[in-house]
Amino acid sequence: MQEIELMKKITEPIIKWYQENKRELPWRKGKNPYHIWISEIMLQQTRIEAVMGYYERFLKSLPTMQDLAKVDEEKLLKLWEGLGYYNRARNLKKAAQIVQEKYQGSMPKSYQELLELPGIGEYTAGAIASIAYDEKVPAVDGNVLRVISRVVASKKDVLEGKTKKKFTEKLQKIMPKQAGDFNEGLMELGERICLPNGKPNCEECPLQEFCLAKKENLTDSIPVRKIKTKRRKEQKTVFLLEYKGKIAIRKRESKGLLANLYEFPNVDEKLTKKAISDVLKKWNLEASNIEEIGIHHHIFSHVEWEMIGYKIAVETMNEEFIWVKKEELLEEYAIPGAFGKFREKI
Ligand code: SF4
Repeated sequence: MQEIELMKKITEPIIKWYQENKRELPWRKGKNPYHIWISEIMLQQTRIEAVMGYYERFLKSLPTMQDLAKVDEEKLLKLWEGLGYYNRARNLKKAAQIVQEKYQGSMPKSYQELLELPGIGEYTAGAIASIAYDEKVPAVDGNVLRVISRVVASKKDVLEGKTKKKFTEKLQKIMPKQAGDFNEGLMELGERICLPNGKPNCEECPLQEFCLAKKENLTDSIPVRKIKTKRRKEQKTVFLLEYKGKIAIRKRESKGLLANLYEFPNVDEKLTKKAISDVLKKWNLEASNIEEIGIHHHIFSHVEWEMIGYKIAVETMNEEFIWVKKEELLEEYAIPGAFGKFREKI
């Protein structure tokens, strides 16, 4: 049977399964395109359980497109604190401003128009257009690629762009009228049933009678993932400097990784307790107590930080840093998750 014929057969079982088994998620209530958009952007790189709290807090603070378009960047980054990939938040604001000006505050209704907004790629445009408006467009993420690869027993590398392109084109040809339920069903099936690492629950799957990977016992080897990303390793020493209840922070540069966020002072090497004083001297500071507060690894997409932290009581403040009270630090300044482990030690 041709791949496309096989793929056609899965549309109805997926939609039926989704309608009977879907989880009640806050952004699924009422199919509000603003809500769907915010949730989809948050869900990139982040698990549903982790997104829930952020989503509720974000919408409570910025309930409308207009609120998002006008929000102050510091407040926006604070709402995003810990979710990572902060450009996602900045792009949300930029896109909201465009929607305000060009579409009078209403999310555009077509895939093509959505695709023109900052931060909205093919997957997100497909998800919003199909879920909010039932436009017949696919939304292909890692879950969808895994399910389809297994159904048709594809040996193509799912990390290669051309594999995704090929499946997207085929899905486009079989999109049913209930496009939103079909796309959400495929994604949810991938998240809950057709699990990665050779552990799918085929016995609970509505596609088991069609699935070639199950039939041919290939679920361990499909999807094929060949390209390995090489991460650069960087070492860091992080300084939790404290003077009379105030903590030193500084703003990161306006370009590059974690741009414009706040961080604890740090240097690009792993220092022993002994070597700390030299760095403090450069900052015109002197320690009255130095305590090692642990090691933390943080993984970004292309780089990995190996960090060691020191909590240091100092005898004066300097002008190089911003010195803030603990409450101010927690409430007003967005500190990225990479430094979160050290912030807990304040
Ligand atoms: Fe995935 Fe198994 Fe369903 Fe095939 S039958 S789609 S391998 S869960």
